[in-house]
Amino acid sequence: MIRVLHVAGSLYNDAMDWKGIDTILLDLDGTLLDRAFDDHFYFNVLPEHYALARGLSMEEARERLTGLYRAVEGELDWTDIDYWSRTLGLDVPALKASVRHRIAPHPDALLFLGYLQQRHMRVHLVTNAHPKSLAIKMEKTGVDKYLDRIVTAFDVGCLKSRREYWTNSQAILGFDPVTTLYVDDDEAALSAADMFGIRHLYLRSKPSSASPAHASAVYRSIETFHPLMK
Ligand SMILES: [Mg+2]
Repeated sequence: MIRVLHVAGSLYNDAMDWKGIDTILLDLDGTLLDRAFDDHFYFNVLPEHYALARGLSMEEARERLTGLYRAVEGELDWTDIDYWSRTLGLDVPALKASVRHRIAPHPDALLFLGYLQQRHMRVHLVTNAHPKSLAIKMEKTGVDKYLDRIVTAFDVGCLKSRREYWTNSQAILGFDPVTTLYVDDDEAALSAADMFGIRHLYLRSKPSSASPAHASAVYRSIETFHPLMK
């Protein structure tokens, strides 16, 4: 049930209508938090340490890691930092913690979470992040104090881009898909949620402060949460 929407830009002149919405599902990386951290970690920090450990050039290390990343794309291993510790022979949680100063929410994220709190919405975090990454990010950003529940892909057993993710996460969280609004920067995850029947879907089209926005041709795209707070 894919809804094709009209031209982005003309959609948000009206105030957001919250009638009939009681639950908000929010992604973490790229949606609430600036994905510049993760991009930096996977494309700079990890290759740098892998290159040092294996006596490779940075370019060789990046190339090998890109191949390893691709091999588990769409699988739970992709975000499993214990899997990466085993595969690369590096202490990946410790490396992540060593660059935690770069972890930051998007400038509008806490504002939006406060806005939802004022409206007495149920707000759940639905993330593919591994519990160890999650712990570092929550400790650094304090986002968790705005959330009713946190469900990781490891609780559910698969990534959000899988249809069964939504059946299982609904069983855990008990949301009504018809009165639920879901924001993610991953279009494949929105598409799986769409197939499941979640009615109000938004793509966060600018996940990283360091990269340009990419609007969706299918889903309503927002660069920030401001259009939802009008
Ligand atoms: Mg994301």
